[in-house]
Amino acid sequence: MSRCCGIALALAFASAALLPSETRSPHWPAVRAEYLRGHPRCDVCGKNQDLNVHHVIPFHKDAALELDQSNLITLCRHDHFLVGHGRSWRAWNPKVRQDEATIRAILDRIRREREE
Ligand SMILES: [Zn+2]
Ligand SMILES: [Zn+2]
Repeated sequence: MSRCCGIALALAFASAALLPSETRSPHWPAVRAEYLRGHPRCDVCGKNQDLNVHHVIPFHKDAALELDQSNLITLCRHDHFLVGHGRSWRAWNPKVRQDEATIRAILDRIRREREE
């Protein structure tokens, strides 16, 4: 790993460490529950169990969007980790909406081809 990457990683860890849960809005649990009522399935695979509500722009990037429904997406735990965070909770995927649409289209196509 280059020295440059080491420094970038150190900064990423620092920003993740600045993510104290106590600064989360007290309204988040209610907003989350309401969002899940309107979006009760994983946007990638359609599963309706083990659901997480993911922030497209993460809380530590823009806390003002924490309760904004247009910034939320329902993902199952598996797809949350994979598509939302690239298999690292310290990372996030700025293209999560494009990627979930792409993966959903692939899954739909395979399902259709199997039925033909
Ligand atoms: Zn899923
Ligand atoms: Zn997330």
